[in-house]
Amino acid sequence: MPSCLVVDDSKVIRKVARHILESLDLQVEEAGDGREALEICDASVPDVVLLDWNMPIMSGLDFLKELSRRNLPRPPKVIFCTTENGVDHIRAAVDAGADEYVMKPFDRDTLESKLQIVGVL
Ligand SMILES: [Mg+2]
Repeated sequence: MPSCLVVDDSKVIRKVARHILESLDLQVEEAGDGREALEICDASVPDVVLLDWNMPIMSGLDFLKELSRRNLPRPPKVIFCTTENGVDHIRAAVDAGADEYVMKPFDRDTLESKLQIVGVL
């Protein structure tokens, strides 16, 4: 069963994402900010990370930078979440190593196709 770490400071978004991902047979973990997400990745690297941009303590971009600094042998795929006016965010995220991006609010079909694109499903 592939594993997905959902990183978002919104509990509601984490809950929605978890519901969708579990319906796609993924094992889900949650983190409320980048720092917490890094700690989880240091303990056990998930197959894919669904990553928010704006979060307190550590942003999605800073998480990406820290993650790439670790030079993991099997780094997680990263799907970056942004809002429709976040074009600059998308570019910065891809430059920092994100594999794909998804617009908020996302639905099941969108997430499923992104997970297929990054090879997790
Ligand atoms: Mg946020």
